Amino acid sequence: MLKSLKLVNFRSFSKLYLKFHPKKNIILASNAKGKSNVIEAIYMLSFLKSFRTERNHELIKFGCSSSYASFEYLYSDILNRLEISIEPKGKLVKQNEKMLKNVKDYTQKFEAVLFEPFDLNILKGAPALRRKYIDSIITRISPSYRDELLSYNKVLMNRNKALKMYRDKNSLKAVLKSYDAQLITLGAALIEKRKTFTENFNAICKAIHNDLSGGEDLSIEYKTNIDIKADIKKTYEEAFTANIDKDIDRKSTALGPHRDDYLITIAENEAKKFASQGQLRTVMLSMKLSELKMIRSFQKDVTLLLDDVFSELDKSRKKYLLDAVSDMQVIFTLQDMDDIKDLIDDDYLLIKLETNEMIYGGRNGR
Ligand code: ATP
Ligand code: MG
Repeated sequence: MLKSLKLVNFRSFSKLYLKFHPKKNIILASNAKGKSNVIEAIYMLSFLKSFRTERNHELIKFGCSSSYASFEYLYSDILNRLEISIEPKGKLVKQNEKMLKNVKDYTQKFEAVLFEPFDLNILKGAPALRRKYIDSIITRISPSYRDELLSYNKVLMNRNKALKMYRDKNSLKAVLKSYDAQLITLGAALIEKRKTFTENFNAICKAIHNDLSGGEDLSIEYKTNIDIKADIKKTYEEAFTANIDKDIDRKSTALGPHRDDYLITIAENEAKKFASQGQLRTVMLSMKLSELKMIRSFQKDVTLLLDDVFSELDKSRKKYLLDAVSDMQVIFTLQDMDDIKDLIDDDYLLIKLETNEMIYGGRNGR
């Protein structure tokens, strides 16, 4: 649970200090007042990187040489402090005064789930966005998955390099042999994990979406580009081997989990093609609430970050969302209190960015 945040020369803020409520936190301001910047900073506490940019200098206030963010949060009732110093060339992260050299050193991690408008591209965009989204959830649930994914990508990259480099088919085939056995073993393990994960995820999404939408049948299915049978490794190996000559002609690797996709349907119609804007938003909300549920099943303390999402939902979906997360910390941005005033009880913190006021439960100064 996030207790406090301090920003120095971060994005539009020279200085900002905020304290947070254990449950509902509303960040209220009109356009371009820094709401998303605050959400971005909190996201960095969880993921140690931004969701908007990979370029450090963009996070540093214009005209300044570095920026700094520090956070206090509770992990299993223990107070932790994380500090991030950002310079154009890199970031330094300290947890409880100890430098973190590697993401893996980040134990007692602050867990967050973010939902923001760009997430709709997970439904509408290219397969890579869906793979990245699902991979990020599996990584948080099973950290070794990140290493398996990195190993697979490394072998794949080397194989593709070889396909482009060698002109003589026989020597190329000999080189590919050394990569293919590894690629198939690593790839089959990824497929297996994604398949198992998607079956669980689908069951949770289905139930939530059914409630949220008043009976729509949502389905999320893992689509491999190989017709996978019960013995994943064997069928993968057969298809992969049969395709080697084509790979050589095209100088790239056609089959494997790097080309897989997830098919998302409502009543058997592909959401990407047929769903309305409101339906897509509801599907994404169902997926985000399912992500939250899965992450909460192994780490009780999770904070939900909602940027620019709340006001886009209709009243019944807003209510469903608030009920679903009533027992956890939520931090969300709003431009207008009217969007929420009939739906919320008195137990919340209102952060007015424009005037830098913190108002508890509609009453000033508690
Ligand atoms: P909206 O309601 O439109 O989503 P917002 O309150 O979320 O607005 P932010 O996206 O947080 O607004 O951005 C606030 C301002 O921060 C923008 O005007 C932007 O130009 C400014 N900004 C972004 N990066 C920097 C930076 N590195 N230095 C200074 N200002 C920045
Ligand atoms: Mg914004």
